[in-house]
Amino acid sequence: MRLLLLALLLPWLGAADLVWTPEQLKQIKAALAHTERKGERFACTVNNYAVETEIDAEFTAKAAVYMDGLRGDLIRLFSLAGKSQHLGATTVLITANRESYQAAVPNAGSGRGFFRHAYKKGVWTEFALYTFVKVEAERSFERFYHPILQHEGTHQVLQEFAGMRHIPELLNEGMASLIQSWDLGKSQEDNFKQRKSSYLAKLKGGLDATKLTPLSELYDAQPWNVDNFGDRSNTRYFQAEMFIEYMMVAPNRLKLLGNLLDQELKGQAKLAEVSKLLGEVQADYVKYLLATTPRR
Ligand SMILES: [Zn+2]
Repeated sequence: MRLLLLALLLPWLGAADLVWTPEQLKQIKAALAHTERKGERFACTVNNYAVETEIDAEFTAKAAVYMDGLRGDLIRLFSLAGKSQHLGATTVLITANRESYQAAVPNAGSGRGFFRHAYKKGVWTEFALYTFVKVEAERSFERFYHPILQHEGTHQVLQEFAGMRHIPELLNEGMASLIQSWDLGKSQEDNFKQRKSSYLAKLKGGLDATKLTPLSELYDAQPWNVDNFGDRSNTRYFQAEMFIEYMMVAPNRLKLLGNLLDQELKGQAKLAEVSKLLGEVQADYVKYLLATTPRR
């Protein structure tokens, strides 16, 4: 069982409220029509998600449509190919507050939410994303804390394609952290120019360029979170998201990233080839990271 946690110390910088496309508004209407009351919860199943919340029917239907949209965006953005390995809808549970979250989710921990997958003898026993409403305003889905859905949703979608395979941390955390601060309504170019890293913002003294870890060491570093979301871990998250960004901004590198991801998700990556790639880009990656850090 792997547990992927997101630190919740990061301030929610209050991005603009979510704006729906006309197509999504239609989908919400359809989803709302089959949203049901289940005791204390509301339940709505769409194509790829079975969402339950303790909020209300509208919030639940919107969360379901949002997750389906996010999944589609991620598949397009990262050209995820092949077949989803997780059969059936992914469970998403959003509770009304932290107390009911901790009561409903075994080993929930102190974070704001997480994606967890577990299996036994080749059968999934858990494939679920959990989070909760923290302040009253978030009961309107447009004002919910979407970065948690984006970060954990990225882990979830990648795992769908990887099935029961392990995804190296540099790719898994890098992509989740990049998407966490990604504006899904904007172009890639605008995101690369305007995106603000949550992890860089948390580094107390700013980025210490002498404390960067070589990519080869970071690639599948275990454990990943080495100091309970202290400066060392936040530097790792920042490095990882910047690795993904660095690979995405140039078409030739995007192709290499796509191949690498495809091979890892299929369990076909060869260590020697991965090491060669990381060694080749290491110096240029650090140059890019340092040159673009001041505007983040
Ligand atoms: Zn993560």
